[in-house]
Amino acid sequence: MIPTSESMATIPNQEPFIQPLHPAFFSQYVNRMDMLRLDSIHPVVSGNKWYKLQYYLQDAKAKRADTIITFGGAYSNHLVATAAAAKQFGFKSIGIVRGMHSKDSHTQTLANCISFGMELQFVSREVYTQKSDIQYLQSLLAIYPNAYIVNEGGAGELGVKGSSAIAAYIPHHYTHICVSAGTGTTLAGIRRALPADVQLLGYVPMKGGVYIREVINDYLPLALQSTYALYDDWHLGGFGKHTDEQLTFMNDFYSQNHIPLDVVYTAKMMMGIEAQIKAGFFPADASILCIHTGGLQGNSSVQDKLIY
Ligand SMILES: *Cc1c(COP(=O)(O)O)cnc(C)c1O
Repeated sequence: MIPTSESMATIPNQEPFIQPLHPAFFSQYVNRMDMLRLDSIHPVVSGNKWYKLQYYLQDAKAKRADTIITFGGAYSNHLVATAAAAKQFGFKSIGIVRGMHSKDSHTQTLANCISFGMELQFVSREVYTQKSDIQYLQSLLAIYPNAYIVNEGGAGELGVKGSSAIAAYIPHHYTHICVSAGTGTTLAGIRRALPADVQLLGYVPMKGGVYIREVINDYLPLALQSTYALYDDWHLGGFGKHTDEQLTFMNDFYSQNHIPLDVVYTAKMMMGIEAQIKAGFFPADASILCIHTGGLQGNSSVQDKLIY
């Protein structure tokens, strides 16, 4: 998809909407299954990252910063969303990129970051691991005294607060809400804003990823800490990895539903949900809303294997 300059102009340039899935995907097993298309808000800045950034940028404005600094890998959805959002809010932006190999420095993601005016600084994997060390962050602020630092992935309280806005797009008639989780920031924000009787299920595309429960619980009152479930069974080799079966699933899902899934998060979530519904995990009267958290720009790494 080649975005036109008009469609790139402002974010969100289309409101999220709810799309029913094809009955063949679910009707044997559950009552209803729909998808909340957060990916539709912008061709490059698709999905949850935009919501996570809102309060950071407001805070940066209040603190009179002129530059946003953040962190990410060469395919990071967060990095490109920050570049676009910073530009729209009138900030300069600097992206600290993990890895100094030349193969990491020519991705479509990084080209998009540059097109939104972001300055990129490549650091070694060792330096990158310091991304939340106070001393390292202070050394950055010594060089850029008017900068505001946003955590990798937009993780943190303001990211949770921003993610709560996603719940406004969730009507009350659903029994189960499914969302993929990396840092868990988005899930925590949605949990805070959803009625307590609605079930929330998180799909983590990392090996052993259920450990993020600890992080999520830091952002939730005690009463909400056991009101969501996490699954890490569908990591398919680990974060950022994929299988041939997954690519086939993505193409089939697109043919059936006309919805493009991203290779890192939402495809793995939908494979997990499909396995669960087939195993009878959800009650027959369940009405399930799957949240498409975007990330489509990251598919550039597998573009030649996708039909969309
Ligand atoms: C970043 C991302 C997530 C994970 O969001 P967290 O708030 O870190 O849990 C899920 N889906 C997509 C497409 C993402 O880009």
